[in-house]
Amino acid sequence: MAFESLSEKLQNTFKKLRGKGKVSEKDLKAAMREVKLALLEADVNFKVVKDFVRDVSERAGGAEVMESLTPAQQVIKIVNEELIKLMGGEAEKLNIASKPPTIIMMAGLQGAGKTTTAAKLGGLLKKQGKRPLLCACDVYRPAAVKQLQVVGGQLELPVYAEEGVTDAVGIAKRGLEHAVQHSNDVFIIDTAGRLHIDEQLMDELKEIVREVSPTEILLVVDAMTGQDAVNVADKFNSELEISGVVLTKLDGDTRGGAALSVRAVTQKPIKFCGMGEKLTDLEQFYPDRMASRILGMGDMLSLIEKAEQALDLKKAEELEKKLMTQKFTFSDFLDQMEQMKSMGPIQNVLGMIPGVNAKALKNASVDEKKMAHIEAIITSMTTEERELKDKLTPSRKERIAKGSGTSIVEVNALLKQFEQMQKMVKQLSGGNMNKKFKRKGL
Ligand code: GDP
Repeated sequence: MAFESLSEKLQNTFKKLRGKGKVSEKDLKAAMREVKLALLEADVNFKVVKDFVRDVSERAGGAEVMESLTPAQQVIKIVNEELIKLMGGEAEKLNIASKPPTIIMMAGLQGAGKTTTAAKLGGLLKKQGKRPLLCACDVYRPAAVKQLQVVGGQLELPVYAEEGVTDAVGIAKRGLEHAVQHSNDVFIIDTAGRLHIDEQLMDELKEIVREVSPTEILLVVDAMTGQDAVNVADKFNSELEISGVVLTKLDGDTRGGAALSVRAVTQKPIKFCGMGEKLTDLEQFYPDRMASRILGMGDMLSLIEKAEQALDLKKAEELEKKLMTQKFTFSDFLDQMEQMKSMGPIQNVLGMIPGVNAKALKNASVDEKKMAHIEAIITSMTTEERELKDKLTPSRKERIAKGSGTSIVEVNALLKQFEQMQKMVKQLSGGNMNKKFKRKGL
């Protein structure tokens, strides 16, 4: 599967970083060196790697990240964001002509997957309610016309072809007329490829462009060829002004280099990716989904986002102050629990962490029940009791137990737990709380 080795290496790097708690400048440098090597081994263009690592390092090295409660997570988040940016940011949709038909020209080297992709794209657009016509302009490879007719037939798409005619430009022109006459709102041209880019091929493609003015010129490149694919894309782009790229064979054993460099090198968006040989295996390319896949931690990323939203940093600071002045009350306790809870059911939160097993989840569910009881007990206290202004006498305890639907035993257990926390607070308030908090970073 694509990106496997890159994913594994990046995940290892982040695992080491997370294990450190607080991230030092040296740790960050070491991690960035590993990221750099992983990307180079994945056959990502050297300049792209250099710029990427520089951008991530600059952002990650900032005080905001290094001094946050969770520096390691912030670094992962930045790598994710920069990967998305590298692949183009937002997903770019196919351009649709304001006046039909939308004309899509497929270009690329032989074997890249043009013919297959032309049909796949036709099938995808048909599903969206369009009426595509495929046009066979690969006149040099006799089998190519037949191939387009076969795959088009499998998807029940009409194919315009002229047997025995070698004038590709003329076929494209007449095919377009045919599309207009038959109310086909999408016209997809399959062109000839060569083993290498040559002048004759480029001239023919340019001639077709002049004649039919495509809405989209999609360059089809084979992701398995790594940096070669990027070089091909760069050359095609400088000659032909392509409007987008289709990366094929991403289902194969690709190292990911093409997917990660082609946008940066050509400045043209990847619009689709081929994910298999079946005619339905064409997908819109989403940079954010691809980045999650590369990091192999889609769920982990949403967990980080959730934690960020849930963790009210201002409240954490207030608590820190309170701890230092030793005024930790039941209200603060409740606040802490609310923050934990706003991350969602504990099982779900834990379930997102790789490696958490079912047994741990079962224990967590018990904890959650306990938490509900603690919450009930505290909310059954009066404001004065919560703020420690009124002492909890036996009669008050009984009232609280009744009000919360718990028992005196549970109320006493909570009080004991609270006393222990206060003791801890006393010890902590002597030291530097700030540091202790930060060391807790995941
Ligand atoms: P063309 O010469 O550019 O028209 O390339 P073809 O469309 O004939 O494709 C060349 C080979 O690549 C064929 O065997 C296709 O089945 C295969 N192919 C194309 N796209 C994909 C893809 O996304 N995944 C896989 N696994 N194979 C693909």
